Amino acid sequence: MTLSAAAILAETARRRPDHPAVVFEGERTGYRELWDDARRYAAVLLDRGFRAGDRIALLLPNTPHFPKVYFAVLAIGAVAVPVHGLLRSGEIEHVLRDSAAAGLVCGAGMLPEGDVAAKATGVPVLTVLADAESAHPRLDVLAAAAEPADVPVPRAPDDLAVVLYTSGTTGHPKGAMITHLNLVSNVATTAVAPFGFGPSDVLLGCLPLFHTFGQICGMATCFLAGGTLVLMSRFDGRSALDLMVTEGCTVFMGVPTMYLDLLDVAAADPRRPRLDRAFSGGSALPVAVLERFEEVFGCPIYEGYGLTETSPVVAYNQVHWPRRPGTVGKPIWGVEVEIARADLADRIELLPSGEVGEIVIRGHNVMAGYLGRPEATAEAIVDGWFRSGDLGAKDADGYLSIVDRKKDMVIRGGHNVYPREVEDLLARHPDIAQVSVIGVPDDRYGEEICAVVRTRPGVAADQACAAGIVEWAKARIAPYKYPRLVRFTLEFPLGPSGKVLKRDLVARYAGR
Ligand code: ATP
Repeated sequence: MTLSAAAILAETARRRPDHPAVVFEGERTGYRELWDDARRYAAVLLDRGFRAGDRIALLLPNTPHFPKVYFAVLAIGAVAVPVHGLLRSGEIEHVLRDSAAAGLVCGAGMLPEGDVAAKATGVPVLTVLADAESAHPRLDVLAAAAEPADVPVPRAPDDLAVVLYTSGTTGHPKGAMITHLNLVSNVATTAVAPFGFGPSDVLLGCLPLFHTFGQICGMATCFLAGGTLVLMSRFDGRSALDLMVTEGCTVFMGVPTMYLDLLDVAAADPRRPRLDRAFSGGSALPVAVLERFEEVFGCPIYEGYGLTETSPVVAYNQVHWPRRPGTVGKPIWGVEVEIARADLADRIELLPSGEVGEIVIRGHNVMAGYLGRPEATAEAIVDGWFRSGDLGAKDADGYLSIVDRKKDMVIRGGHNVYPREVEDLLARHPDIAQVSVIGVPDDRYGEEICAVVRTRPGVAADQACAAGIVEWAKARIAPYKYPRLVRFTLEFPLGPSGKVLKRDLVARYAGR
């Protein structure tokens, strides 16, 4: 059997050549044009000596160059290694070395950092849209003069397609090896259900394309279904609302912080896009936020769950099935999800439905392993099951709930507290716009529960407000769970995909 993930774009280009694939800054690129450009880029890569199996790092923002380079790399059978756009040269260097990259394709804005990393590692650089003074060859210019290559080259299902570095929310980035089968199966399975994508859909591409959520769930799934992707180079609520209105977006896909930003903007801007569905993932979406968004935007949110290592979708509330807000729906087709004892490191012991334990996953979406890290792979994939590091439970109907990350659990005076439960409650407080709950060191209880809060506009972030929040929570949740400490912030530290970095919050408030 042969298979290439490049077919995701190639097939749609054959079936719907003139349909707009990408819109960026008002400019439309049709499917045939996008694929032909990708094949020209492929011709340049081949001409420069890159071959199947080579790893090529991509340091590119959300512009049409991203899909062109990405599908060119896949089409020649090489392995795409998208690099987080906000990394500094030392971190980029780690990715280049760790992946043994044969080349780096770098966007102009990222060149200062990319250049330093490339020099330190001796990796050759190709640029897109760098100015004339750049010492490196320009891939886009060379491609304009090239004939489209005869690609995609066939690949075996288990051949590597992409190496995705974990975003580092919880530690040192490791490269998850995603095969062509992982990629194609996850995209083909999710395009119809849960997402219900079709050619009339217009998706706002505001998630970064270097991250699995924006790249695979967003871009690749949209392309497979022949929809249109409206790219945004960097998310902000106001521009997102603008673009959704002007470009007639039908679908929004984002992490919870993006929903909060859209709600903030919508409070002062009466325009509404004609969205008919929205998808949330990446971290927990409080039900109170889901309800507010649905009321304000008149469109249902479907929440799902995935990880970089599972290509990424594991479970989702699906557009064709009954939704259960507060859960992440049911496992997608072909993927098994079970709950296992979280305290056993070396074997998997499954728990009955209803019990809380570690979410374990088996199926066509589970990565081949961590690149060059057999020990980390052996810790993560045990008895054929991928251990997610997340705690969850399945109800009798098979709907999965995420309780929290194992690492985020707080132990206060011997009691286990799941911050997510406290966050869900506090999200209902009328003064709170956004909240994150963490454990901070405490002499008496080991850890104390601390709520980091951004207040709603017009609410004074003062002692009285903090005391009010503590009293309000005390009346609604067990004594060991309510936050004794409330700290106010105007901004939360966010990771590259827009998720709140709890590790940074803990560091910030550890001394209280
Ligand atoms: P790192 O792997 O470096 O720690 P990360 O955890 O942010 O970074 P991702 O692969 O981007 O890496 O995210 C996967 C994690 O996101 C899951 O393990 C889970 O903790 C969290 N997550 C995803 N979807 C949801 C959801 N709907 N509710 C709660 N948590 C979620």
